[in-house]
Amino acid sequence: MALRIYNTLSGEVEGFRTLQPNEVRMYACGPTVYDYGHIGNFRTFVAVDILFRWLGLNGYKVYYVMNITDVDDKIIRNSARDHVSVKEYTAKYEQAFMEDLTALHVRQPEFVHATDYIPQMADFVAKLKEKGFAYRAEDGSYYFSIAKFPGYGKLSKKDFAGIEDGARVDVDEYEKDNARDFALWKAAKPGEASWDTSIGNGRPGWHLECSVMSISKLGESFDLHAGGEDLIFPHHENEIAQSESLTGKPFAQFWFHSRFLLIEGEKMSKSQGNFYTLRDLVLKGHKPSSIRFLLASVPYRNQLNFTFDGLQAAAVSVERLRNFRWRLTNTEFASASAGAMTELAKTSSERLHASMDDDLNTAQAQAALFDMVRTANAALDSGQVSKEDVPALLRALEEFDSIFDILRDDDVPLMKSVLEWATKESGKESEISQELKTVVLSAGLSDSDVNQKLAEMEAARRSRNFPVSDAIRTELTAAGILVENTKEGFRWRRK
Ligand code: AMP
Ligand code: ZN
Repeated sequence: MALRIYNTLSGEVEGFRTLQPNEVRMYACGPTVYDYGHIGNFRTFVAVDILFRWLGLNGYKVYYVMNITDVDDKIIRNSARDHVSVKEYTAKYEQAFMEDLTALHVRQPEFVHATDYIPQMADFVAKLKEKGFAYRAEDGSYYFSIAKFPGYGKLSKKDFAGIEDGARVDVDEYEKDNARDFALWKAAKPGEASWDTSIGNGRPGWHLECSVMSISKLGESFDLHAGGEDLIFPHHENEIAQSESLTGKPFAQFWFHSRFLLIEGEKMSKSQGNFYTLRDLVLKGHKPSSIRFLLASVPYRNQLNFTFDGLQAAAVSVERLRNFRWRLTNTEFASASAGAMTELAKTSSERLHASMDDDLNTAQAQAALFDMVRTANAALDSGQVSKEDVPALLRALEEFDSIFDILRDDDVPLMKSVLEWATKESGKESEISQELKTVVLSAGLSDSDVNQKLAEMEAARRSRNFPVSDAIRTELTAAGILVENTKEGFRWRRK
């Protein structure tokens, strides 16, 4: 089967196709860097990451661009409030965003900054005006005249018949269902950041930024445009209107939107007290790998209800997968011919492909993975896995992990960096949990330190010196190292 994917523009699941053979040009709306990223944002970024990976695994050369919105109404307002430049204000949040992406194993797109494209944005507005799609208001701001673009509403499927010609809005976000001529360019206001350009002194509107950057990097028509579902209207509708009016060509072929994340069944909001940044969760001691696995567990178009129970379950799942790989790589297997387990690996891989090709059904892909692990673990318990089966099982596991990416265990260094950040960031120190401290403390023992202690423990046990072996175990537990007795000998992991 080949990839089928939902296209918001057609409202249907379609066979994926590209403008150029074997090449995908895609653009995702990135963060507005005025605060730390919350897990709703990261749901979307993980969903797009999975799409990006799956396209790559299918042999496409993927040119993936994401913007950093480093100028918009909120940024201008907050930087003026704090008496710092826009750059100074956003740099801190952008850096945190990059660290958060690394923690979540989100593969990096090529990033572009809105503030690097200001002259091109002014030029874009001038051309729209020349073509009669834009007009200049008395204060020097420019607006897009939506009545001039008959396709307005085609993405959000809203009917804008009877729109008031010339009714305007100059904020970056406005009431849903309320069509208004939107600001392309806002004239400078005293005390606020602005740029001196060919169309006057001012700053770009948010919608314009994405049109200009995507067209500059990917061309007038490209394959796919992504973001969270809140962006369908007005942001993406406006991007289409501006871009297609200017170029006279279709803008993006496919529109990919991920569904909003809920927290414990509620909309995430600061006032409800259920608003979590990635950092908030790490401060509570949760691992980035568990968070990634949870965010990927629900297909991008389904509602993901984030719960702490779900997060615990994801942590257990990640642990199971890591244990499974450990067993496969640390057991002495007898030789026989490749058998049922090689067949299992093959059918599991087929299930992975079928699930992902079905509009990126990550839930079914995870189910296939756990079916494989359950069956193979039972076979390992009863000695039914031969040496010849192991490569196939490992290959299948790695294939799943090329999507979910939770086997490599770099949680601790990343958690350590959040701990260090929290000790410096005002108001955060009191949020550092004991769990996080324990995890980071255990990292003070290197793997070889732990192995050395385990060897001492094993020797003490063999000579029936139980007080000594127990004491070593207690010492390791205190440092967050859990020791288990398995058929294959001692096995340890970091808590
Ligand atoms: P922002 O930084 O607000 O511009 O948002 C960055 C990305 O996160 C956009 O694609 C948004 O659509 C997406 N987003 C924001 N909130 C949520 C949420 N609760 N669930 C899923 N995606 C979200
Ligand atoms: Zn955008």
